[in-house]
Amino acid sequence: MGLYFSHPACLEHDPREQMPSHPDSPERLRAIERRLAGADWLGWERRQAPPASEADLELVHTRRHVESVRELSAAGGGAIDPDTYVGEASFRAALHAAGGACAMTGALLAGEDEVGFCAIRPSGHHAEPDRAMGFCLFDNVAVAAELAIRELGVERAMIFDWDVHHGNGTVEAFRRRRDVLVVGLHQQGIYPGSGSLADMGSGEGEGFTINLPVPAGSEEDLWLSLIEHVVVPVAQSFEPQLILVSAGFDAHRDDPLAGCRLESASFARMACHLRELARARGAPLGAVLEGGYAPAALAESVELTMRALAGEGEAESAAPEALLTADAASHVSRYWEL
Ligand SMILES: [Zn+2]
Repeated sequence: MGLYFSHPACLEHDPREQMPSHPDSPERLRAIERRLAGADWLGWERRQAPPASEADLELVHTRRHVESVRELSAAGGGAIDPDTYVGEASFRAALHAAGGACAMTGALLAGEDEVGFCAIRPSGHHAEPDRAMGFCLFDNVAVAAELAIRELGVERAMIFDWDVHHGNGTVEAFRRRRDVLVVGLHQQGIYPGSGSLADMGSGEGEGFTINLPVPAGSEEDLWLSLIEHVVVPVAQSFEPQLILVSAGFDAHRDDPLAGCRLESASFARMACHLRELARARGAPLGAVLEGGYAPAALAESVELTMRALAGEGEAESAAPEALLTADAASHVSRYWEL
């Protein structure tokens, strides 16, 4: 049915110890697990997320960065920036977060299942090779993708990031590369400020970064339209052997940190398109938790996403929505035949 990875250590990372109003609370993960437990885990196989090694982290991050987080955590913790906190338990939590993404990827590539979900914290997609930021310490999905390329025989991996914030860390990790296609949908004009349509990667990697910013207030129609008419056709041309999703759920209409208007079922509808893409390619599909700060909406969205990954529902076709999709398609088609 699917492989579900998590670890109790991921509950121990708590930025509220230092900033009581911080939105990234362990309750997010507890809400997900309460809901899934109430649904008998949807029949998925639950596995413990093992810790990543520091060598794994250094596939993407500098040694200096890994050491600085470890040392800050060992010293009792502190603020890295006004959003990003490290506590005594945070380094260990971050090792299990990245390790979960790596273990899921390894299991999927070994053929143990076709789909996976990693319910881990802290999230990762804002962490750049040499710095933590935006609640993120290490870029879990980037480390897993790089491990797949370097050690598990994958030649082309795709990372699709549907978190409402731009995944700047993942883009920076792979912006000069052609073997990892990074595609993200995100709300324009909010944190971290990067991710314009014009940024298509750099040097040899030009065309292999695709940023699809959407305006505040965007609803499901636009998100699905961009997936169907831009993301899926590009992915079909790229022919990924592995698809990883940076699965943030903060584009939900209930989320306090952004202004998009997706429903819980919208994430499942996006997941259906990715599942069909992955099946058609024979590529495994794994999702890794990023943001999502309204715990009830987050838990419902995760459950519906997992159901879709495991085969419920069908990918529905939508009319190309609005000018935005056409603009994005014409921009991206300079590199890809759309
Ligand atoms: Zn986010």
